[in-house]
Amino acid sequence: MELEQGYEPSDEKPSDVKIVRTKDELRALLDPLRGGRIGLVPTMGAFHEGHLTLLRAARRESETVVCSLFVNPTQFGQGEDLERYPSNEARDLELARAEGIDFLFAPSAEEMYPHGFETWVEPERLSLELEGVLRPTHFRGVATICIKLFNIVRPDAAYFGAKDAQQLAVIERTVRDLDLELEIRPVETVRDSDGLALSSRNAYLSPAERKVALTLPRALALGAEAARDGGDPVATTRSALEQEPGLKTQYVAVADYGGPRLLAAIQVGKTRLIDNIPLKGGAR
Ligand code: AMP
Repeated sequence: MELEQGYEPSDEKPSDVKIVRTKDELRALLDPLRGGRIGLVPTMGAFHEGHLTLLRAARRESETVVCSLFVNPTQFGQGEDLERYPSNEARDLELARAEGIDFLFAPSAEEMYPHGFETWVEPERLSLELEGVLRPTHFRGVATICIKLFNIVRPDAAYFGAKDAQQLAVIERTVRDLDLELEIRPVETVRDSDGLALSSRNAYLSPAERKVALTLPRALALGAEAARDGGDPVATTRSALEQEPGLKTQYVAVADYGGPRLLAAIQVGKTRLIDNIPLKGGAR
């Protein structure tokens, strides 16, 4: 085999993923790496193919990839699923390793919110509609933890899923409003082969509930089709959802989140599910 001049064969193994528990340790580890591009993927763990797609995008575009794994208590409201949120750190670590991630930042709640914590990032209009009506303190918690992570990691880019389109819009707005210097990179929703958007919360669904949940992507697809034909996407989606007695519709709406998107939230048994799709010309 001919080697290019200057090529030195190396038997160095790719470095392994490192789990990091404290802000100070992470900062110290990142300091010598700041000459290269740093990508951050914020998550709450219980990885699925959606998370892995974000990790792969970050890996492709960065010298160093940090994935945060933190079930952020401040974005859960009273009576929500904080206590039962799925978690499997050992499995997540293996998956992060397989994706060639450099650092898995998995701090405790006390590390992120030490005694006396009282400063919040409060988005206004964007956090009051849709999800914000049903979860009034949710986006304050999301924006605050993301800004904290951005300040700790100081990434060149952070990766977010369009599955949570309103969250993505809130983060983009916050980054602009607070003059942060990083790129927000959206990644389109990853779905199961039957069309259900992947979500850690899908684990809550019984097989019967999962069948009912499939109405959500189907109803959105019908709505998008109606919009293409000059019809009303919201009314079409709503009526398709209403034909399934096993679910409750919470909202159906069109919003401009980086382009027009059709969004809906439903409740199936005890599980809330959200999904959205771009309308014509709305793909990011
Ligand atoms: P979570 O762990 O649910 O907070 O999600 C972490 C990140 O993964 C967020 O940016 C989500 O929008 C993104 N994400 C979750 N589900 C999907 C999916 N099915 N496709 C693409 N991205 C996703």
